[in-house]
Order: sequence, then structure tokens, then C-alpha cells
Amino acid sequence: MAIRSTQKLLGRLNKSINTSAAVITSTTESSSSVPNSPREKKSVAETSTTGKKRANDQILDLENGEKLFSSIKTSYLMKSLMNQYLVSYDPIVDMGIWVMKSRLMETMVFKSLILGVVKHTFYDHFCAGENLDEASKTLEGLWDVGLKGIMDYGLEDANDNFSCDRNLSEFLKTIESTKFLPPSSVSSACVKITAICPISLLKRVSDLLRWEHKDPSYHLPWKVDTFPMLCESSPFYHTLTRPNHLTSIEEHDLQQAHERLHELSEKCLEMNLPLLVDAEYSSVQPAIDYLTYSSMIKINRYEMPIVYGTIQAYLKDSKERLLLATEAAEKMGVKVGYKLVRGAYLSSELQLASSLGFASPIHGTIQGTHECYNECASIMLEKVANGTGAIVLATHNLDSGRVAATKAQELGLGKSNPKLQFAQLKGMADGLSFALKNAGFQVSKYLPYGPVDMVIPYLLRRAEENRGMLSTSTIDRELMKNEVLRRLKASIHLAK
Ligand SMILES: Cc1cc2nc3c(=O)[nH]c(=O)nc-3n(C[C@H](O)[C@H](O)[C@H](O)COP(=O)(O)OP(=O)(O)OC[C@H]3O[C@@H](n4cnc5c(N)ncnc54)[C@H](O)[C@@H]3O)c2cc1C
Repeated sequence: MAIRSTQKLLGRLNKSINTSAAVITSTTESSSSVPNSPREKKSVAETSTTGKKRANDQILDLENGEKLFSSIKTSYLMKSLMNQYLVSYDPIVDMGIWVMKSRLMETMVFKSLILGVVKHTFYDHFCAGENLDEASKTLEGLWDVGLKGIMDYGLEDANDNFSCDRNLSEFLKTIESTKFLPPSSVSSACVKITAICPISLLKRVSDLLRWEHKDPSYHLPWKVDTFPMLCESSPFYHTLTRPNHLTSIEEHDLQQAHERLHELSEKCLEMNLPLLVDAEYSSVQPAIDYLTYSSMIKINRYEMPIVYGTIQAYLKDSKERLLLATEAAEKMGVKVGYKLVRGAYLSSELQLASSLGFASPIHGTIQGTHECYNECASIMLEKVANGTGAIVLATHNLDSGRVAATKAQELGLGKSNPKLQFAQLKGMADGLSFALKNAGFQVSKYLPYGPVDMVIPYLLRRAEENRGMLSTSTIDRELMKNEVLRRLKASIHLAK
């Protein structure tokens, strides 16, 4: 009787594993080209049988969950699975976003209750800890299983110089602290320019840079050496009228922002630690790139780039800007470093453009974003190969991971080359992280840390990104679920 019911249970588990495997295959495939015409369908079918596709599949082994998660405890897998299911369930995400943005959070009792729930669910899943000590422990745990970390103190946007200075000292503390961690367990540090330069000034500088691009005779006396930040296909709807010149106070504040970024860059140069500058929304991005490029010009003079900018492939103009900036850098003998992401501000970008009555700056389809990501990755991998650049491929997309790994192999790039890194956010795409690590590449997890209420904006972005049963994290959930089921099945066999 007991044997028959165990057999029944195993049968059900098998069925579930097979269904999950089918989901992995179909979801992975759906993230690659979606054929439109019968002719395209045929060519996709043909391509899938070519040696190239087989080679792609062989580079990353995502089928063998036992090998992928061999260093991960079952309890962690189960907790992670539970959190991932929670964030994929739309009504929970909608309610969570509503509560966190509502006035209820102004009530002390309610706020501490909500933050307590968030702490033990989303926060534990996506964040590394409330302070440096906790984050360092998380990092050491990752190091033990062969992954590195990108430490990120989750600072809020700054509105004045006082907050900028305070944030700068927090960033410096984080960078300093890496000295006490296992050697090379931290692959890079990161900085948000919106935390070290007042937002209003970033908007003003972006407006002025846009206007200067439109009318090159409009002279900006404060402008220092930089690379192109805008191109013909860049959106200009943020700046519909000619902006006023910077006041002397604004010029002084901008100089201070340059100095803050320079101090951070110098510190990273001293410690040979790459500094990744985050990309944000398009109303302030030209100024962020301006500050980043001016620091790159001063600091990236040695073999290994230190200051890295970020390219958001969901923007229609991203590839053109990447080509213009890298060409300018090469002419000046500066090494370029980029973190390549798809972009996290999709809904706010769409909302802004449509509220002003302009076309969206984002690719019309997700497929357009995928193609742009893979093309930008390919451009940068060639720069790594010819010694002029470095890239952090920050993505959870299995197809992009495979395509880039294949291209790196074709170019003969050594997998331990420090100029090629892959990165995923903590709590996301662990399967891809381990598959890349098992294939020999250098992989980091992005580790935001800080008090729970400080990282709420970050958690809201993650909730948006993971919502829906068809998000990229579906694949990760399926991989983990399969492995938990496999372990369960194995322990039932053992117990028999
Ligand atoms: C280490 C690291 C650092 C990061 N730093 C930054 C940063 O500095 N700035 C930043 O903005 N983001 C940053 N991100 C977040 C990143 O942008 C998101 O994680 C990313 O967009 C998710 O995409 P993915 O590559 O994992 O691929 P997928 O999950 O396959 O793609 C989802 C993405 O595709 C795009 N997309 C979705 N729908 C459409 C559509 N209809 N049309 C066009 N495009 C669409 C969106 O960008 C969406 O996020 C970072 C991520 C990592 C891992």
C-alpha cells in the first residue's frame, strides 16, 4: 500500500518535472526571435538545427539542475522559490505597490508592520543586508559558491549638496570596506550619480546638453572634455524651449559633482576596483553620461578601465550612442568600460513620452530590445578582444547569456579575462549565474544593501520587473522547482 502510494507520488512528480522542462524549453525559445512570416518560421526552424545553435546550447548547461544548484541548500531553494512565486503573482504585486506608495506608510505602527513583512520576504530575497557587516556576510557566502559581488549601498536621490556629501562618504566607506573582504570577491563598486549631484541640476544640465546638440552655436562655457552623449535618434522632447544658462551657483554645484565623482574614481583607481555608474531615466541621463565620460577621460588611461558607464538597450538610440562614444574614446586613447542592461524605467519612460505627445524612446517590441542588447554586447565583446574596452553583461536573459558566451568563445576571449564579466541581481536568475560560472566565466551578483525603508524604490522596481507568470524569472523558478522535486524524489528513494 505504502509502496503503491509512493509510486503514485513519484509518477506525479515525474509529470510535473516533464511539464516544467517543457516550460523551460518553450520560455527559453520564446525569448529568441519570434518568427512573423511562414518564410521566417522556416528559416528559424532551419537555424535551430545548425551546428551554431547546438554550440550555443553546449556552452551553458541549464538542463542539469543537480549540477547547477549543487552548492545550494534545499532550504534556500525552497525559500527562494516561495518568494519568486509571490513576486510573480500580479494581485500581490499590485497591492504591495499600492500599500508602499500610500499614505498608510506615514502611520508609524502601520509602517513598521509593513516593513517587517517586507523584510522577511522581498527584502531578504533581493537585498544583501541592512548594513556593511550583513552585506559582507552575504558576499562571503557567494564567494564560497564561486560567485563575486557588486556592492551597492542603496542610497536615495539627493536634492542638495549636503545630502550629496553625506552620500559620497557612504560610497567611499563601501569602497574602503572591500579591502577587508576575501581578495577579488568584489568585482566592482557602483554609484548612482543622482545620489551625488542634485536631481534638479542633472535635469538642467541635461536640458542644456540637449539644446547644445540641437544648436551647436549655443555655447556652454562650463563644458569640459567628454564623448558624445546624444545622437540624431535621441529624444529631444524633454527640452522644448531654450533653457537659461547655468547660474554661477549651479556652475559651482556642477563642479562639486565632478569632484565627488572624481574622488570616488580616484579611490577605485587606487584599489584597482572598477566603478560602475548606474543609468537612470532619460530626463537626467545626458548629464549622467556627461559626468561619467569626463571622469573616464581623466581616469581610464591604463590597461584596465576603472570608470564604467551604463548603456540601456531598451532605448532606440542606445546603439548609435554606444558607437559614437566608443569611437571618440578610441581617438582620445581612452579605454571604455560599459555595463550593458536592458533598462528598468520602461513604464515611466513610456508615460512621459505619451503625456507630452511624442513617440516612445523605447524599442517598439521586446524583440527589438533583445536584438539591440545582443548587438551592443557583440560590439563591446569585440572591443574587449581588441583591447580597447571592457564590458559587464548585466542580464537575466538566457538567450543573451548564451549568445554572448558563444561570441566570447568565437573571439577567443579568456574566460578569466577581467574585462568580461556577467552580472545578475541578487535573487534573480541564479540558474543563469551558476551556468555561466560552471562554463568558466566570471559572474557577479549585484548586492544592494541598506535599511529596509531606504531600499523600497529598488524593491518596487524589482516587483515590477518580476510581475507576471511569463517574466524571465519563470525559467529560474522552473529550474529551482525541478531541482527541489528531484531532491525530494531522491530522498524518497533513499527512505524506501
Ligand atoms: C547587475 C545589474 C545592474 C543593473 N543596473 C541597471 C542600471 O544601471 N540602470 C537600469 O535602468 N537598469 C539596471 N539594471 C536592471 C535591468 O535594466 C533590468 O534587470 C533588466 O531590464 C531586465 O532585463 P534582462 O536583461 O534581465 O532581460 P529580460 O527580462 O529578458 O527583458 C526584460 C526587459 O526588456 C525590456 N522590455 C520589456 N518589455 C518591452 C517592450 N514591450 N518593448 C521594449 N522593451 C521591453 C525592459 O527593459 C525589461 O526590463 C541592472 C541589472 C543588473 C542585473
